[in-house]
Amino acid sequence: MLIEIVSVFPGLFQGVFSESILKRAQEKRLVEIRLHDLRAFSDDKHRKVDDAPYGGGPGMVMKPEPFFKAVRTIRKKHPPAGRVILLSPQGKLLTQERLKKLSKVERLILLCGRYEGIDERVRMHLADEEISIGDYVLTGGEIPAMVLVDALVRLLPGVLSEASLEEESFARGLLEYPQYTRPKDFEGKNVPDILLSGDHENIRQWRYREAFKRTLKLRPDLLQNREKPRNSDG
Ligand code: SAM
Repeated sequence: MLIEIVSVFPGLFQGVFSESILKRAQEKRLVEIRLHDLRAFSDDKHRKVDDAPYGGGPGMVMKPEPFFKAVRTIRKKHPPAGRVILLSPQGKLLTQERLKKLSKVERLILLCGRYEGIDERVRMHLADEEISIGDYVLTGGEIPAMVLVDALVRLLPGVLSEASLEEESFARGLLEYPQYTRPKDFEGKNVPDILLSGDHENIRQWRYREAFKRTLKLRPDLLQNREKPRNSDG
């Protein structure tokens, strides 16, 4: 997968993308991430990318030309066209389901806004999709883009083991079961006996029940759309 990110602050991404799983995925060439400075696509002599809003009001609005030029230049250099995603608090909510679909796309171009937002023509005529990471407003699209890339890359084949993904929260409409590690007894709080029993089938069933109970308690909304359990579950 190829991910292109267009931002006025491309430097913000360096740390996040150069550690741990994201770093290894790039080293293994499972994903390539390219950062583009939006200012490089501004025709203004001061590399300005924003202007006052028509109709008045507070703050500055990001101009359309640099975004259109950035996407056209990126596409011209390296086909295929790719899917353009505008990070926006007004977009569709980023979910594990949406990420699964995005993980099948060959190339993504992520547009990060700043200031009061982006000229509407970018949303209407350049973006294929608008994605929000939640019902709150951040100062820019860079952190949402990092969230999207992090959550997406771990779904790409070869990045993590299939087994780690299968039972994760949201993967099958349930939150994950409780996890424990050593020590067995921590300040009088013990690991459930079943996990020490070595009986894998019983452990699997226990985990499924715990995942179900936890979801019912914390996120009952998830149960409405979940996959049907296998016969022996629960
Ligand atoms: N004035 C805009 C509004 O009320 O919808 C908010 C603009 S916000 C301060 C600046 C930029 O941050 C947005 O253009 C978008 O790229 C990004 N952003 C802020 N919150 C976001 C969220 N929840 N999800 C995705 N992107 C977000």
